[in-house]
Amino acid sequence: MDDLLTYGEALERFDPVLGLEVHVELNTASKMFCGCTNHFGSEPNTNTCPVCLGLPGSLPALNGKAVESAIRLGLALGCSIAPRCRFARKNYFYPDMTKDFQTSQYDEPIAFEGVVEVEVEGQTFRIEIERAHMEEDAGKLVHQGTSGRIHGADYSLVDYNRAGTPLVEIVTKPIRGTGTLAPQVAKAYVDYVRDTVLALGVSDAKMEQGSLRCDANVSLMPKGSDVLGTRTETKNVNSLRSIEAALTYEIRRQGAVLAEGGRVIQETRMWHEEGYTTAGRSKEQAEDYRYFPEPDLVPIVADAEWVERLRATLPEPPAERRRRLQADWGFTDLEFRDVVNGGALDAVADTVAAGCPPQAARKWWTAELARRANEAGVDLAALGVTPTQVARVQALIDEGTLTDSLARKVFDYLLAGESDPDAIVAAHSLAVVSDEGALSAAVDAAIAADPGTAQRVREGKVQAAGALIGAVMKSMRGQADASRVRELVMGRLQP
Ligand code: ADP
Ligand code: MG
Ligand code: ZN
Repeated sequence: MDDLLTYGEALERFDPVLGLEVHVELNTASKMFCGCTNHFGSEPNTNTCPVCLGLPGSLPALNGKAVESAIRLGLALGCSIAPRCRFARKNYFYPDMTKDFQTSQYDEPIAFEGVVEVEVEGQTFRIEIERAHMEEDAGKLVHQGTSGRIHGADYSLVDYNRAGTPLVEIVTKPIRGTGTLAPQVAKAYVDYVRDTVLALGVSDAKMEQGSLRCDANVSLMPKGSDVLGTRTETKNVNSLRSIEAALTYEIRRQGAVLAEGGRVIQETRMWHEEGYTTAGRSKEQAEDYRYFPEPDLVPIVADAEWVERLRATLPEPPAERRRRLQADWGFTDLEFRDVVNGGALDAVADTVAAGCPPQAARKWWTAELARRANEAGVDLAALGVTPTQVARVQALIDEGTLTDSLARKVFDYLLAGESDPDAIVAAHSLAVVSDEGALSAAVDAAIAADPGTAQRVREGKVQAAGALIGAVMKSMRGQADASRVRELVMGRLQP
């Protein structure tokens, strides 16, 4: 086990510097250089052809849609777009890459010099992006054996379905000045990229499936110094939570090494969900890859007119959208944060768009429906209740057809697979009984059945009325408006 400083000690003595590399798999219909289907989860080695298998003599043809996605993503991250750029071969051997080189970009990335701002604990951090370049993904090794890892595996299988999937790799410049918030800033940045990618619709950005991956570099420098220390690059970080945990661990580990007068080794490290990193391979230098321009592909020319046309398709930036929605809805910071942290932002927005008052939409999604999703162990989006349905249920409440508790019964039926709130109300007779005659009769019956309680209410014990109201509600199977029942009961007993 590594020696660790406490997080507090490490950051009293050192300033952390971050470097984040985010890989985004694009969701184009076909792969980057061939016509194979680009799809996660197919039977192994079914989406392959001579090009993505790297067979000798096969020639790549560039996917124009992937270039468009890369340009839009670059623009959304505030980057400049290179008017002309090329692909390069990055040469190395590994069984997941049969060509023995990865088609990537090196000195001519399609997008460069961007900047985004993220907010953590009320402070704004400016993150500069060095470049966003295009490359292809490699195949995937599947290690067979109890560990599921290469070490201790009996044998490994290789699935080339992923080979040739279009990727954009976004690399930040070294990020200084984050202090003790470094791990949270890293997490907020990756979350920002994820939101942006989703808003653009260029990737499904699922960290758990690897369509959004982050390599987290960090180094420490003694407080007061401005000479960068030696960095490590932690891989295998498959969730936002892990980014924060892995960086916290590396800061504590490097802190202990440096505090003892040791040197940090420049290497890749593997994150383990149990909460620690281990050394991977020592890091190659760029020279080791013998990059050279890809001779089988012509340069990409992104003329200004095309770039401006793509810029016009950009969605509202996620941070601006949040500010706008919070203002439109009139939510307090706390209410809004609950919605965002509960993963309910889109659901609430769609419910409001379907005509629901914002506070009611918030209440359903962050309380009742969040509780049910939690019980079922699924995300809100997978719960199976749609924003349109929620808006309709709320409309039925506002029209006086349903009470809150009847609405909850409607949700029971929606979750059981029925789909139309109006049909549910009709089929299961859930509507509030507003027929005054029926209500009066039920009130009279409850008073007659419990003369003792009725007498106490007449003598001024107002609280006792609760039992009578309860009895009426029960006889009406919950389908009465409780406040109207109270009025009727009091009208009889304390005129
Ligand atoms: P590699 O090929 O090793 O992945 P990249 O240039 O793609 O290198 O990414 C390295 C990342 O680490 C970049 O985000 C870069 O800004 C950052 N970085 C470089 N030097 C340091 C350092 N001393 N400390 C922290 N981060 C660094
Ligand atoms: Mg890199
Ligand atoms: Zn192919």
